[in-house]
Amino acid sequence: MCPHQRLPPSAESIKRLTIRYRWLYEQRAKRSRKKADTRKTQSSYYERDPWVKEYTLRRANGICQLCNLPAPFNKKNGDPYLETHHVIWLAEGGDDSIENTVSLCPNCHRKMHVVNSKADRNYLKTEH
Ligand SMILES: [Zn+2]
Ligand SMILES: [Zn+2]
Repeated sequence: MCPHQRLPPSAESIKRLTIRYRWLYEQRAKRSRKKADTRKTQSSYYERDPWVKEYTLRRANGICQLCNLPAPFNKKNGDPYLETHHVIWLAEGGDDSIENTVSLCPNCHRKMHVVNSKADRNYLKTEH
């Protein structure tokens, strides 16, 4: 066996590879159909109490309860834009109550749905 085969790939060969992959992705991406197909989806929807939502938003007073920064922008009516989130998800049997809801900026809200880390959940549970 040639000893060179055991060496890790050189930075140069990795670069050549990534350039080649980028080219392949680009070729495929350029062949898009331009018009996106519509696809019917079926999903159940939880009906939320608008009063719980309103109270949760007012309680936060325009400050995200995870990053503690002001809402990133205001709505057309001037209200700070935050989203209400259920710390224990409704899908997991969480309540639609003011004890289980927090106000988050869109970034933190997405983070909770993508990452949903235990540390963040515990922090939100003890926030109010
Ligand atoms: Zn935030
Ligand atoms: Zn949420």
